[in-house]
Amino acid sequence: MNVLVLNTGSSSLKFQVIDTDPETMASDTDRRIAKGTIERIGSQGLLRFQNSAGRVTRNAQPVRDHRAAIDIAVRWLVSPEADIPQINSLADIHAVGHRVVHGGEKFTASTLITPEVIDGIEECIDLAPLHNPDNLRGIAAITEIFGAGIPQSAVFDTAFHHSMPEGSFLYAIPYQFYRRHRVRRYGFHGTSHRYVAYRYRKLLDIPKEQVNIITLHLGNGCSAAAIKGGRSIDTSMGLTPLEGLVMGTRSGDVDPAVIEYLMEKEGFSINQMDTLLNKQSGLLGISGLTNDMRDLLAEEQENNDRRASLAVQMFTQRIRKYIGAYLAEMNGADAIVFAGGIGENSAIIRQRVCQQMEWLGLHLDEQRNNTLQAGTEGRISADSSRLHAYVIPTDEELLIARDTVRLVEGIAVPSW
Ligand code: AMP
Repeated sequence: MNVLVLNTGSSSLKFQVIDTDPETMASDTDRRIAKGTIERIGSQGLLRFQNSAGRVTRNAQPVRDHRAAIDIAVRWLVSPEADIPQINSLADIHAVGHRVVHGGEKFTASTLITPEVIDGIEECIDLAPLHNPDNLRGIAAITEIFGAGIPQSAVFDTAFHHSMPEGSFLYAIPYQFYRRHRVRRYGFHGTSHRYVAYRYRKLLDIPKEQVNIITLHLGNGCSAAAIKGGRSIDTSMGLTPLEGLVMGTRSGDVDPAVIEYLMEKEGFSINQMDTLLNKQSGLLGISGLTNDMRDLLAEEQENNDRRASLAVQMFTQRIRKYIGAYLAEMNGADAIVFAGGIGENSAIIRQRVCQQMEWLGLHLDEQRNNTLQAGTEGRISADSSRLHAYVIPTDEELLIARDTVRLVEGIAVPSW
């Protein structure tokens, strides 16, 4: 089954077409047929498409909105110019899987999209005003382009964390606000944490119930999850993706009193504070240079830049703090697992996160850490470690495609 996987962001669209079915899933032979990104939706769009043979096409053209972006992507997929042997017409795309950011308490697993599900995603807009509307636009665009008959699924970023106990997901504010407004921690990047935990289980050939790990999704957005007995029991992001680790442009944890204080001192509005904490903080805010970890590491090394160095130090320190907290909460773990653009590619960040944890039984194998090829999974701790460290490249799209096929074929979707 050829599944089009869509990830609609505020000004971007990422897509992949993956050919998968129950047999290919079992043998890990799912095939990537095409992928692409459209950035800067709403102005002069930047298009990057790649066909099954790996040929890349780049283009720039005005892209009005998400509907236009999806139109452009789909038209390219079926065009002779794309040269994708498996896709000649719309009929060769059999189903569409959407990444949906917020499923609230309503959606605890992936689901086929029906009018009721659309209503449910709309109800969650309050909780994710920046994300869910774009996801809904993506669903509407697909219905318009393919017709109402095409099966579509929603795979929620929050779903994997629904297993968190109350003590982890509640904020210690008056309980009535949870009851009245569902103010609580939901957690995000769930599809990534779930995929990484699944691959870990496969690598070790153990049942789900024996998975006791801390997963670290370190990309532009960053989050940690404590997975005990195969269930997410805590995670660093909260009501929104702002809480937790230091990220590219998000602050992560701050004392909420900072908000009122700065509003008063600087005359900021609540919107300006929101922008400050979400878009101007984190690595960018501390370094004053960039949110890109590669550039910060280069600045640190080549120019000895103090604030670049401080940003990187704060980034790794916050991760270590969460690892410590989760190890205490979990009564120990078997491994920590790195994923995401930074976790998968940066040996130096992994090394700085894992340093001085020998007392915990974590001994990094420098050789393994430094020589692990980008994009591959593997263990980077020494054989003698009690607490191991792994790198497992995440693949949210694959999981979305697989969930979609299972839903369409009426096969039970595993919790992960
Ligand atoms: P993602 O959001 O998962 O695509 O991750 C983006 C982040 O990964 C950016 O901060 C990049 O600078 C970072 N990244 C990608 N490759 C490397 C690398 N080789 N070393 C350090 N950071 C990297």
